[in-house]
Amino acid sequence: MANSLYDGDLPDSFDAGGSVAIDTEATGLRFVRDRLCLVQVSAGDGHASLVRIEREQSEAPNIAKILEDPSILKIFHFARFDVALLYKTFGVLASPVYCTKIASKIARTYSNQHGLNILTNELLNLELSKEKQSSDWGSGDLSDAQIQYAANDVLHLHGLRAELDRILEREGRAELAAACFEFIPARAKLDLGGWPEDVFAH
Ligand code: MN
Repeated sequence: MANSLYDGDLPDSFDAGGSVAIDTEATGLRFVRDRLCLVQVSAGDGHASLVRIEREQSEAPNIAKILEDPSILKIFHFARFDVALLYKTFGVLASPVYCTKIASKIARTYSNQHGLNILTNELLNLELSKEKQSSDWGSGDLSDAQIQYAANDVLHLHGLRAELDRILEREGRAELAAACFEFIPARAKLDLGGWPEDVFAH
């Protein structure tokens, strides 16, 4: 299915269903210096919607509605970063959230590799290209390769969640994972507020 590209916000008609996969691309990884460029979302139906965000843009009502809707689970990979960046940009703290990276760390204790490509390859038997991971996301004119890369980052999160939940349940670790997910919005606030280190460390 072709991906959809929008400017500024999702359309009113976007139906997130009960859970939506979300990813973001930015000009870099520092919250003070860098900015949100792109928000990718997928309802888990094999289709991705990509929203270009303008410099200085501080509102996206349809995206915000999904982020704060308590009945919609937001699935991220490394939610800590996306949740912080979305909060910094739109002033909305995503909740409830699920993080496939945290889920993997708690479920897949046989591995120390928890990158998105590793997970999609091992759990879904898919090979994804990481070729456009580092690229100019602030460009008003995204290439087809950039669009495909950005879409891929959300298209498989529902599938990964299902596989990871299976392991978490089997090993009796689902509650521990859920408690970690619940902490993510606070972790994002700590990052933005200047506590980048682990506050649980000695
Ligand atoms: Mn991404």
